[in-house]
Amino acid sequence: MSRLDNKVCLVTGAASGIGKRIAEVYAANGGKVVIADLKLDAAEATAAEIRAAGGDALAVAMDVTDERQVIDGVAKAVAHYGRVDVLVSNAGIQIVNRITDFSLADWKKMLAIHLDGAFLTTRECLKDMQARKQGGAIIYMGSVHSHEASKLKAPYVTAKHGLLGLARVVAKEAAEYGVRANVICPGFVRTPLVEKQIPEQAKELGISEQDVVRNVMLKDTVDGEFTTVDDVANTALFLAAFETNALTGQSLVVSHGWYMQ
Ligand code: NAD
Repeated sequence: MSRLDNKVCLVTGAASGIGKRIAEVYAANGGKVVIADLKLDAAEATAAEIRAAGGDALAVAMDVTDERQVIDGVAKAVAHYGRVDVLVSNAGIQIVNRITDFSLADWKKMLAIHLDGAFLTTRECLKDMQARKQGGAIIYMGSVHSHEASKLKAPYVTAKHGLLGLARVVAKEAAEYGVRANVICPGFVRTPLVEKQIPEQAKELGISEQDVVRNVMLKDTVDGEFTTVDDVANTALFLAAFETNALTGQSLVVSHGWYMQ
């Protein structure tokens, strides 16, 4: 029996970076994966790569901030595979700025993607999980910034802290249906989201890009190393395959010791 045993796993933001690797690892471990992303072309390409490697994948267009698109995207996944067993709410972006320079539009955009997206996808997937009464797993992509703060990241830190609260409520409300909710909190991972931040932070802080990596991003790790997409995907696999409510309402920090709980 494979670790995911044909579980249907919907991963948002799965056309790039961490979400893409989670989808690949889930498929390689027997999951049927739904690649839900704003960018349908990239989602289709990821699904095609997974099918070419022998996996089972479906691409759906989904802007997680759009209620209609989330309802329709989850319905499409359920129509295709019959159910959703695992949700990974992973889609996210980063906008860095000083609080005094943040526009309300950017603040709202950040909270919409990270929090509205987590709420809407949870609501729709949980309805299916509760109706079938066969359990499930909901995994939120938090961050070390679910526990720590950094300069220039007010809405990101606010939203990532908020996911801990959402996960704890879902853990309590959904326990009777055997649905678990947990948060993965990675340190810095070299995805497009982080590559974009390095020159932006260098400019904002008036330091070199090398110093952003060495003295800002990896400063508090135990070994000066980036976390990898595989580190995060393997944690997501462990949480998706975990069988009981013993592990729920938690956050797992995967950060080379940057933050120790
Ligand atoms: P990425 O930019 O490589 O991928 C993000 C994906 O999300 C893209 O495919 C993008 O199209 C999609 N997306 C963006 N807005 C969307 C929307 N409204 N609806 C649906 N899809 C949308 O980024 P990543 O680094 O892989 O980040 C994934 C998650 O991991 C984010 O939640 C991020 O905050 C979190 N995270 C990243 C790091 C890191 O260092 N890279 C660290 C901790 C947490």
